[in-house]
Amino acid sequence: MQTTSGKTGEAGRGSAAPELRLLPSVARVLECSAFRRLAGRWGASLCTEILREEIARLREQVLAGHLRGGSLRRSVAGPSLARRVDGVIAALSAPAPRVVINATGIVVHTNLGRSVLSDAAARRVAEAATSYLDLEYDLNRGRRGSRLDHLEPLMARLFPGSSFVVVNNNAAAIMLTLRALARRKEVIVSRGELVEIGGSFRVPDILAASGARLKEVGTTNRTRLADYEGALSSKSGVLLKVHTSNFRVVGFTGDVSVGRLSQLARDRSIPLVVDWGSGDLVDLGPLGIHDELPVRRLLDDGADIVTFSGDKLLGGPQAGFVVGTPHLIARLRRDPLARVCRVDRLLIGALRETLASYVRGTAFDDVPTLSMLRLSARAIGRRAGRVRSAVAARTSAGSRLSVIDGVSKSGGGSSPLGERATRLLAVSADGDDAGPLERALRQGDPPVVARVHEGRLLLDLRTVLESQEAVLIERLVEVLGGARSASRGITRTGS
Ligand SMILES: *Cc1c(COP(=O)(O)O)cnc(C)c1O
Repeated sequence: MQTTSGKTGEAGRGSAAPELRLLPSVARVLECSAFRRLAGRWGASLCTEILREEIARLREQVLAGHLRGGSLRRSVAGPSLARRVDGVIAALSAPAPRVVINATGIVVHTNLGRSVLSDAAARRVAEAATSYLDLEYDLNRGRRGSRLDHLEPLMARLFPGSSFVVVNNNAAAIMLTLRALARRKEVIVSRGELVEIGGSFRVPDILAASGARLKEVGTTNRTRLADYEGALSSKSGVLLKVHTSNFRVVGFTGDVSVGRLSQLARDRSIPLVVDWGSGDLVDLGPLGIHDELPVRRLLDDGADIVTFSGDKLLGGPQAGFVVGTPHLIARLRRDPLARVCRVDRLLIGALRETLASYVRGTAFDDVPTLSMLRLSARAIGRRAGRVRSAVAARTSAGSRLSVIDGVSKSGGGSSPLGERATRLLAVSADGDDAGPLERALRQGDPPVVARVHEGRLLLDLRTVLESQEAVLIERLVEVLGGARSASRGITRTGS
């Protein structure tokens, strides 16, 4: 227990010693009425623990000479300590990650959680979380089943003749594939495809971790079929083709198509594995996204295995799919790593609902990632106009708001050049510095994430859920409503 006796060697600390006597003992603070209320709310043991840390922190500040006199006296008063402890515990108990408004227009925004689930998928998650399920139980036969059986009938329709495994993300899907098919063997990859996707996913690292050996072929900008041919030997385990999701080499370039690689792979009896990253199941050409090939077409072109993410263009929860030739997939399912990275019960239900939308042909209506991508610039412009009028009606900032042309990106390592035309709500700022506005929106409640370009704040309504539109208006009114509310938003940052 802390005591504040000034005679126990604190004198050696010099001028701070008399101030240290002002620090209360934990026991004394616990007796004050503010603290008793706090203990009733959060529990005595956590309150005591945090209080002890708070007093120790004050002590450090006193010793460092940062806290003395009147401000020290105010800090050590019972009610003031109770407020601090309450704040610390409230922060520990606050929900996180927080719900944010994504006004960036980047549909699959990895830092903001990638895809928003469909209503049906979200309902299944809630249901599955609070009940027992026939997750691995065959109700007809009364014995053990497989959790992947719940996805089987849908996957069979989406990928006829193929088999599949689902694990917790695409990185795991690739690692499992290479481990099961090429451990202690060589994996042949083009130098142009040894990419880093972000979030510390690097092809060479995953490959090494799987126990396979990297055999690089070709050059950064050009790789020919003959390069692959020359690298094949008795040590080869897999031919790997990687979708270079987030960058593009332009100019004098060349790579080998899946069709031609598959011919070579077949002739030499070696599996062709394609890491297709974004995992689109439908043709996105009509949306102006031309360089994404639906997974099924890659299989038709002769890929033995395709891996992809569940939460990118597919629009489901985080997951990694491996789809391909049944006898190869059987080897993956038997690998202990499949158990290590199996999907949890909440995901199975959400994945099933998402896949069902594709099977029924309603994915563009049900799956938010696809419906957001489909939104036309005109429709987005109408929404931006609505927000603009609502904010203009309640503030004097109307003349600072305009609706302008722009582009939205699909994000999530898909289509670096594939951008969709959009309409943006632009907010001009004092002195062409939109930084403070951007910060105030980001640091308020709920946070709004937008971008700044050439001194203006730009909001893309493509990624703002319709249910969030009213709250977005409130936040804009708060931030643009006048100097007072804007600066309130900014000072909140410090706390
Ligand atoms: C996104 C991506 C990955 C990583 O997928 P996760 O689901 O995030 O693990 C791997 N490869 C490619 C080509 C990607 O685009």
